[in-house]
Amino acid sequence: MAELHGKMHKQETVCIFGTGDFGRSLGLRLLQSGYNVVYGSRDPKNSLLLPKGSKVMAHAAAAGEAHVIFVAVQREHYGFLSSLASDLEGKVLIDVSNNLRRGLYPESNAEYLSSLVPGVTVVKAFNTISAWALQSGGLDANRQVLICGDRADAKQQVVDIAQSLGFTVLDRGSIRAAAELEDLPLQLFPLWRLPFRIAICLTAFIFFYALTRDVIYERVTNGKDIAFRIMVSLANKVFPIVSLVMLSLCYLPGALAGFLQLYNGTKYRRFPDWLDRWMLCRKQLGLLALAFGFLHVLYTLVIPIRYYVRYRINVYTISLVKDNITYEFDNTAAWRYDSYYSMGILGFGLFVLLGITSLPSVSNSLNWREFSFVQSKLGYMTLLLCTFHTFLYGWDRFLKTSSYRWWMPQAYMLSLVVPCVVLILKLILIMPCVDRKVTRIRQGWERHSKTSSNCRDTKTNQPLMA
Ligand code: NAP
Repeated sequence: MAELHGKMHKQETVCIFGTGDFGRSLGLRLLQSGYNVVYGSRDPKNSLLLPKGSKVMAHAAAAGEAHVIFVAVQREHYGFLSSLASDLEGKVLIDVSNNLRRGLYPESNAEYLSSLVPGVTVVKAFNTISAWALQSGGLDANRQVLICGDRADAKQQVVDIAQSLGFTVLDRGSIRAAAELEDLPLQLFPLWRLPFRIAICLTAFIFFYALTRDVIYERVTNGKDIAFRIMVSLANKVFPIVSLVMLSLCYLPGALAGFLQLYNGTKYRRFPDWLDRWMLCRKQLGLLALAFGFLHVLYTLVIPIRYYVRYRINVYTISLVKDNITYEFDNTAAWRYDSYYSMGILGFGLFVLLGITSLPSVSNSLNWREFSFVQSKLGYMTLLLCTFHTFLYGWDRFLKTSSYRWWMPQAYMLSLVVPCVVLILKLILIMPCVDRKVTRIRQGWERHSKTSSNCRDTKTNQPLMA
């Protein structure tokens, strides 16, 4: 089949204007896929490093060799194309260009190209694929080519070429989508920005809070210098707190959305923009939370080998021996610590599972029900286990006055606020009477819709739509 496919476009010639990085990589890939490649260059004689098997000639002559022409030239240099208008008449021009920054030009590069050479059909494609990705082959590279254009037949020719090169194609519509496609390579982690900001602000806040409460307080009131604790003890306070708060922030927008739908009595009213943006970056929030959780695990593992810990244990043991005191076994403490560790381990295990299932290669193999089971049910279970883990860590400390230095409660208490709010909201949402209503709304029922309120099943009194 592949052989037959190869033979089908064996004789097909594709032209590339421009012998730069992109043109050369694209030409090599086309040659490897069985196409003939002709380059159009300003200086055909001095064009070096072109892939073996390709031809190079002046632009006009090269245009005469092929119906489809890739314009692998920066937009600033498109001017020369208007003088080739007669040679390009009726051809398909593929605009692969990108800009240095957004809003540089009033119109997209593809629309500009169309206006420069009116007799051609312009298709925007391949601009989201880098020269490196073209060289490294389909397996390592980003494999999706986004295209847009006004003529279906021209787009189909580009789709055929992209597929022969091993790419999948996503049609984004008419040429008016070109500006959007040109903006895509300029984006820098758009969905990670908010989660990163939250992580940085939370880390800074908890760090300075714990520093003031633990280290500075000790220095001011007792004259003791315990600043060395910043490196491990303080870090191991900050990381789990940030992790737990961020994990709960993944689930808070979903719960808020449920209450908003209940309040609006419909699912068809748009959520506020801030909630939309928050919902979109839940995966990134969760992955960052997992990273902080992972740091907490690593820091916890080194506790037994810390000099400070070994020193304290030795001093304590020696004092017991010296004073001839027996260290009594405390059954409650044994239960508490074992449960604390167990909850932490189970919570982290589920957390890792959530992280793995959010990877595209894994999530693509799950159907919607499986995915929502893992991300929602197991996600809440993870939050519950991690919250319990924190409660067990605190135990009865919240009752002791020493926990409120300078009226500041221990940092772990702060970390419990958001998770508890989320869990309480979820508890309300899963109460049968509320859950029934939310489910009906999510199935399309509307409080103020005439159809839904009038058309009720006479036996169950349920709206027929639901
Ligand atoms: P490049 O290395 O600068 O090469 C551009 C080529 O354009 C030159 O080799 C030259 O070829 C030709 N050229 C330069 N000045 C010209 C002029 N005044 N008139 C006519 N032709 C001229 O650029 P590139 O990296 O290959 O990028 C080419 C296009 O692909 C750009 O629009 C870029 O945005 C787009 N793109 C690049 C990448 C990438 O990874 N590099 C990825 C996606 C899209 P001749 O000397 O043979 O005429």
